[in-house]
Amino acid sequence: MMARYLEVKSETPGAVLLFRMGDFYETFYDDAETIAAELQITLTSRDKGSENPVPMAGFPYHALAGHLAKLVAAGHRVAICDQVEDPKTAKGMVRREVTRIVTPGTLTDETMLDPRQATWVMAVAPPSKRLDVLGIAWVDASTGQFTAGEITPAQLAEEIARVQPAELLVPDDFLQDERLAWLREHATLTLTERPPWAFSPHGCCDRLKEHFTVGSLEGFGLKDDSAAVPAAGALLEYLAHTQRASLAHITSLTLHVRGSAMQLDETARRSLELTRTIRENRREGSLLHVIDRTVTPMGARLLATWLESPLLDADAITLRLDAVAELVASQALCEDLRGELKQVHDLQRLTGRLATGRSGPRDLAQLRTALSRLPKLKAKLAARRSDLLIRVEARLDLLPDLKLFLDEAIEEEPPAKLDDGLVIRRGFSDELDELRSLSSDGKAWIARYQKSESERTGIPSLKVGYNKVFGYYLEVTAANLAKVPPEYIRKQTLKNQERFITPELKEYEDKVLRAETRTGELEAELFTRVREHAAESLRPLQDNGDLLARLDVLCGLAVLAASQGYCRPEILATPTLDVREGRHPVLDATLPPGTFVPNDVRLGVEEAGEASETDMARAAAGRLQLITGPNMAGKSTYIRQAALLTILAQIGSWVPAASARIGLADRVFARVGASDELARGQSTFMVEMVETARILHGATENSLVILDEIGRGTSTYDGVSLAWAIAEHLHDGPGCRTLFATHYHELTDLARSHPRVANWNVAVAEQSSGGRGRQIVFLHRIVPGGADRSYGIHVAELAGLPKSVVARASELLAELEAGSRSVAGAAPGGSMADVARQFSLFGPDDHPAVARLRSLDLTKLPEAEAVRELGRLKELL
Ligand code: ADP
Repeated sequence: MMARYLEVKSETPGAVLLFRMGDFYETFYDDAETIAAELQITLTSRDKGSENPVPMAGFPYHALAGHLAKLVAAGHRVAICDQVEDPKTAKGMVRREVTRIVTPGTLTDETMLDPRQATWVMAVAPPSKRLDVLGIAWVDASTGQFTAGEITPAQLAEEIARVQPAELLVPDDFLQDERLAWLREHATLTLTERPPWAFSPHGCCDRLKEHFTVGSLEGFGLKDDSAAVPAAGALLEYLAHTQRASLAHITSLTLHVRGSAMQLDETARRSLELTRTIRENRREGSLLHVIDRTVTPMGARLLATWLESPLLDADAITLRLDAVAELVASQALCEDLRGELKQVHDLQRLTGRLATGRSGPRDLAQLRTALSRLPKLKAKLAARRSDLLIRVEARLDLLPDLKLFLDEAIEEEPPAKLDDGLVIRRGFSDELDELRSLSSDGKAWIARYQKSESERTGIPSLKVGYNKVFGYYLEVTAANLAKVPPEYIRKQTLKNQERFITPELKEYEDKVLRAETRTGELEAELFTRVREHAAESLRPLQDNGDLLARLDVLCGLAVLAASQGYCRPEILATPTLDVREGRHPVLDATLPPGTFVPNDVRLGVEEAGEASETDMARAAAGRLQLITGPNMAGKSTYIRQAALLTILAQIGSWVPAASARIGLADRVFARVGASDELARGQSTFMVEMVETARILHGATENSLVILDEIGRGTSTYDGVSLAWAIAEHLHDGPGCRTLFATHYHELTDLARSHPRVANWNVAVAEQSSGGRGRQIVFLHRIVPGGADRSYGIHVAELAGLPKSVVARASELLAELEAGSRSVAGAAPGGSMADVARQFSLFGPDDHPAVARLRSLDLTKLPEAEAVRELGRLKELL
């Protein structure tokens, strides 16, 4: 047994091996220590008495699902070695084989998958002969969705951020390259090293051709020598290695074309909280969460994919917008469609399980339900005007024969497990019906037999019972033993009763048991046949799944638009952003209704015909909008809102605004202030600057850049200077649409010398509040013009800083301001130079009261004059 264990172990390097022994899964050596720690189970040992006891840990086989989920969630690969023959009939030792290897990226078990999130495994192939090209490919083992393409090494991080694979395959010498060492640090990725042969270009090319039974890969848009081929081939090999089941559901390979989607790097995705929140890394609170109104898991997954890859093609965006518009206009239709879609559930994963031979009885019943909704869906989509809806209608395949077949084959509500029986419907197989009536007749006979024997013997308590050892028996209590007829054969004596058998009983038992065993076998055979027959419709089922997922997303976006008062954006080819009364989609949905203050965003808006000399028109024509204002006023919210609306528009969604004209953005860059990053333990100035460098190098005229509190992570002088130089660079260089939020109000001076810089600020109202002086109220309204001061102390007061600290800070500020006014003559909050002067002048000696005190000659001061002088000093203070 241990010899076989070691053999299997050597075939599955890097995986925890669960070795089936009787009713248990056992692990040995290091694996035992691993699972004992991960699953909190007892570590024991085999051959305890011997010199080298083997560490061992295990659990009952029926607990597999739960333990497996835990191990995989902790990032382990788990190989499952099962007994592949019946122990009862096996000659010698039971044969054991690895039946599958479960890894974080190749999950297919329904219980371990998040229904609303795809689980991807990605492969990266090393640079081929053409240097500086990497092949990448990714696949969802539960649905068979498979994509491959070529990228440059520098684009790898962005692709990983977009696809978010759970596992990454690399050749085992790949990470020696220093440029890729960062992959080892990646937080959410399980790295799996595969032998170099798995990536061999020739082998991979042949493997792909064989899998898809094609003579050439050109049909997928791939040349034989494309770097994508080794990546895709290595994935197929890995799936075969881990799944050990049919890969028939991988029916196609989509070519990944970079440049067809908006580029969003990891920082932008995180800063904008597109699919996860920064602080808690949860879906709740992200943009995806608030816009998701889909009713099927496959729709939810597709929406995430759309959001991860906003489009760049205005025509493609318009197609989606048209479909959403038509559904917004016919809300009753939209609700009807959604009602049907709910019943379709997850056709994609259902089809995946069908193809890999893992469907259970309920899956086939669910498939039948899904098919039963198609005619109504198709009928409802008839006579639609928008292209996408027309396409869904035209391409939906009703598969009526399959529906009819499943109706006839599968019970109305079958049990979850095939072993529980009553899966195949009566009337489907004569043989099965006969066997079933035999066993039920047998049971009826036994009931009748019990009654007649009880009457014949005069033992009212006589009972027929059953156990695995003796089969059926007659049970007689001790008090009635005298009445037992002689032909009864004694089998067992218990404390208060005895058990007997009779030849008649055994004869029926034989019939019943044989019929039952045969019923189970036949039902399993028939079920496999039904499943295989259904799997013949794999392609149309997959296509239906994809079409319905798309329909679900479009309906969801329509419901979102209608219920939240979104508008249809106009898509422009110019670098313009012109949003009236825009709202931040997430805050708008989470704040109490009506409390979010809408704002306009106007960048690159040349207003022909209007008097362009107004503040507003000048501000709107700017490309770089500088937003100053106190902390907590709403600056970050405002600039993120602009980016989110752009992204929403480019996935084909309507946007939360009164009107929106949005020029296509090739890239959206976003960098949030260091303080917001604290939660990730990443608040280093270095990180901030690395990310900013990437923006300055990558932005083009068509990009949208949002920068929040740049330069905050260093001293004030450094910070202001850097912020100034960065803004200047963006203005003079790419000239991209930029929203630059800063509390350095000194930056407003930029507008004097830079024509396309526009100053905006967040309106603040000051109210006097009785004896406590001024109080500020944030209006969250963005208006043209620069802020003249920071209000930092007021924010600190709002935040609950002790009153004494707030009072002292106000005192110091007054001194600072008075000093700069009296000595330098500058207005508070002047230029950068003023600030420098303010700081250098700030010291106890500089206060006018101090100067006055110094100049007093006390020897010449009469007492009354001294008292008056004290009064003056006090006033100065
Ligand atoms: P800043 O970047 O200026 O420090 P934030 O954008 O982080 O400020 O906004 C602070 C808080 O103010 C937000 O969490 C939100 O609760 C509120 N807020 C911001 N903008 C608005 C708005 N337009 N309407 C209503 N509340 C807002």
